[in-house]
Amino acid sequence: MKKRVLSLLLAVMLTLSLGVSALADGALVLGADSEPAQTEGKWSYENGKWYWYTDGEKVLGQWIVDGGKVYYVNAAGVMCTGWFQVDDVWYYAGKDGARQTGWLYQGKKWYYLDKQTGAMAVGIQTVDGKEYDFGQSGIMRTGWIDLGGGDYRYAGKSGALVRSNWVQSGKSWYYLKDDGLMARNETLTLDGKEYDFGQSGVMRTGWIDLGGGDYRYAGKSGALVRSNWVQSGKSWYYLKDDGLMARNETLTLSGKEYAFKDSGVMRTGWISLGNGDYYYANKDGARVKGQWIKDGGKEYYLKDDGLMARSERIGDYLVNDSGAWIATWKSAYGCYDNATVYVSRNNIIHRDSGCSGMKYYSTMTLAQALRQGARRCEKCF
Ligand SMILES: [Zn+2]
Repeated sequence: MKKRVLSLLLAVMLTLSLGVSALADGALVLGADSEPAQTEGKWSYENGKWYWYTDGEKVLGQWIVDGGKVYYVNAAGVMCTGWFQVDDVWYYAGKDGARQTGWLYQGKKWYYLDKQTGAMAVGIQTVDGKEYDFGQSGIMRTGWIDLGGGDYRYAGKSGALVRSNWVQSGKSWYYLKDDGLMARNETLTLDGKEYDFGQSGVMRTGWIDLGGGDYRYAGKSGALVRSNWVQSGKSWYYLKDDGLMARNETLTLSGKEYAFKDSGVMRTGWISLGNGDYYYANKDGARVKGQWIKDGGKEYYLKDDGLMARSERIGDYLVNDSGAWIATWKSAYGCYDNATVYVSRNNIIHRDSGCSGMKYYSTMTLAQALRQGARRCEKCF
């Protein structure tokens, strides 16, 4: 017993000085060159099994070092082969009984046996700088690792856990965060671009419904669009600085005004303001200002503020209450030959009997007035 305590102490000391993990029970003593020290005794083959004898006594439940290799004899003294357990830790020995270390491929599964102790790795372990998940069974996991509650890790085919990187699975992209957890139900900024991940972890593309009619938009690459246009179907949409789709509002972009429907569709053509007032947007969506436009064979004038002119004069032109240009007397008086005009005493034709405070006038048709040599009032025409 004294000897065993001494050897255990030795093992611990060596472990500390050499950085070598101590084995559980069994007091494996390591030499100065970190090779395990030879165990005194010899093997004996009895009835198909190997036993180790020291000083003529069968050794029970101990590690045996022989010829630089490590063996274990169980409580009955039998040399272990294959999987065996010592103090709740699994080890693996080949058919020759030599304890193995490093990677072990068995039954189409990968296991890892500690390089020093041979202990089977369980849970998440770092091997040669990479992390692996061996679960509780010791089997190296690959692919998605379900942590429950919707959380996942991911290990590639090599078994190395993915961190801070993308994974394509099926037709979808996923992202494994710094902590190895799959991103889900969140937005991450990666390499300066923003990506949105759904509840299942799938990187979102296209329209992202935020509910209540609000949307974000991610391109095919998954990068969220901000401060930019998106064409979807035949319509144009705008994603604002905050990434939200513009809707039910008017924005000034690059000095031009654009209006958006509640659905987010950029408006073109007439935009009703109610009570017969309108704006007008070109095909490119920009609001027309200070220009005439043609629509349905009629002409309309959009004023400097973009409002459609109604019942007013624009230069030499008149528009009616619905905004349509009325052919003026100057340009098409022939049509008005039979209209009643007011001819003042100085033989000036007026359209308005109250023009310039005129009190005395005759009424006649325009044709009659022109026949008698009257000329048009510059104010009226
Ligand atoms: Zn007049």
